[in-house]
Amino acid sequence: MYRIRFHGRGGQGMKTASRILGTACFIEGYEVQDAPRYGAERRGAPMFAYVRVSHTTIYERGVVPVPDLVVVADASLMAIPAAGLLTGCTPQTILIMPPLYAETPPLPFPGVHLTMDMDKIRETQISPSHLSSLWAGAAARLCGIVTETSLLQAVEEELVLLGEEAVAKNRQSALFGWRLMEAHTGCVTEKREPSSKAPPPEWIEFPWDPVSMSAPAIRSPETSRGVITGLWRSVRPVIDDARCGKCWWNCSVHCPDSAITVNKEGAPVIDYAHCKGCLICVEECPRRAITVRPEERDPEKGDPP
Ligand code: SF4
Ligand code: SF4
Repeated sequence: MYRIRFHGRGGQGMKTASRILGTACFIEGYEVQDAPRYGAERRGAPMFAYVRVSHTTIYERGVVPVPDLVVVADASLMAIPAAGLLTGCTPQTILIMPPLYAETPPLPFPGVHLTMDMDKIRETQISPSHLSSLWAGAAARLCGIVTETSLLQAVEEELVLLGEEAVAKNRQSALFGWRLMEAHTGCVTEKREPSSKAPPPEWIEFPWDPVSMSAPAIRSPETSRGVITGLWRSVRPVIDDARCGKCWWNCSVHCPDSAITVNKEGAPVIDYAHCKGCLICVEECPRRAITVRPEERDPEKGDPP
């Protein structure tokens, strides 16, 4: 059985990538499971989706705890331990992701680390909204069990409701991801399913947690300040001061994270350490004074590193 985990942020299309890969494997005649797992948050929050692919009926359920392939769409997730990117990775696990940020410490990853060439992708001008197909194509090639024809058919089946143009662009994107991984075709190896005849695992004693850990004092004031949700952002809202009419009761009040405060002059100020990039403020601004830009972190402006 192949066990694959896709990690990304809400809105980056990793659920779609898992569906395309799952459908492509199904077309090839495999038994397949694919499912996403979200938290309670919206766009920008870490999420993952998993796929199991087997020649026989799949009896395993739940998230994939020990993956053969991990696909990561967003290198900034490495800074969030709760995203669980490397959970369960073994020396046999393949990891594919964009280049790490320069300040990222060496990964405690025991397997084979592949880097997606994002410069080549930018040269092709593949739109960010079609990257889910690209990651699916790359994952299919790494597993080596899906033909190009099945991959393209899967893209069409999964995205047909988006219209012909979107399907055509996603097919191009999937093929590009597929071709980029040519040198690594089939590097993901299939692992045996656990047998019911295997000896039971050894008894594990869990130590008692101290009360401070098992019952954290969440009633303490301002505990959320310590959680840098600005790391979740993939796009950033930017206020154009020239257009802003200082009607902060629109943008500030509607921000679900209280990330827009009002300065002494009555102008709105975005706290980028806690803005998640949900873009509700963009919708609410009556003057269209908030624009959306691709994320570029700048610690000098208060961004999280
Ligand atoms: S809603 Fe728009 S115009 Fe009004 S204060 Fe906010 S950014 Fe400025
Ligand atoms: S500032 Fe805007 S984009 Fe950021 S969290 Fe608040 S509403 Fe969402």
